Amino acid sequence: MGCTPEGVANALRGAAAVIAEHRAELIELDRAIGDGDHGENMNRGFQAVVAALDSALPETPGGVLKLAATTLISKVGGAAGPLYGTAFLRASTVVSNQPELGAAEVVAALRAGLEGVRARGKAVEGDKTMVDALLPAVAAAEKAGGGDVAAVLSAAAEGAATGAESTVDLVARKGRASYLGERSAGHLDPGARSTSLLLAAFAEAAR
Ligand code: ADP
Ligand code: MG
Ligand code: MG
Repeated sequence: MGCTPEGVANALRGAAAVIAEHRAELIELDRAIGDGDHGENMNRGFQAVVAALDSALPETPGGVLKLAATTLISKVGGAAGPLYGTAFLRASTVVSNQPELGAAEVVAALRAGLEGVRARGKAVEGDKTMVDALLPAVAAAEKAGGGDVAAVLSAAAEGAATGAESTVDLVARKGRASYLGERSAGHLDPGARSTSLLLAAFAEAAR
């Protein structure tokens, strides 16, 4: 089964619900090594994405991803807003105006999202950022690429969860957490956690 515009919109609605559920957790994580706004920023952004989709559903999956991108860029703020915005924007560009997305397009969209975050934030693997969740997510998705959309997204979600966990031991070298130096170790990175939550929601929506 491929992803229609409705399917992509449903995945984003699911993501908004999961972020709302985990708002307090993301705030706590960001309070430990940042400024404590990540849960609120993400919740505000994804609620705005749902509102935008409610008012007008774009005609293509790429259009839905683009609407999410522009909404996140204007509503999330902080480091995460432009980074997630860029990820969705690159994903929307790579799928162009195709009416439905199959597994190969979903893999390409995930890869484009990762490259967008890397280009924008300049973080590399091990810097204790969302890149540490996205990178193994994309690797796992590419490995599962021969399967269907649900298999690709569930592999990506598993990769992201493992990658996010790996940030606990890392010392931050990018973003606000890097101001803490060695003291940033021992904490889960909030952006890596939100990436893992988003991919889990997308996988759930595709099941
Ligand atoms: P801010 O730090 O501006 O308050 P948020 O709290 O919304 O922004 O987001 C913080 C998250 O953004 C971090 O946990 C990290 O995962 C991610 N992040 C910060 N800087 C970068 C970067 N240069 N590249 C990738 N991700 C980053
Ligand atoms: Mg913050
Ligand atoms: Mg902030």
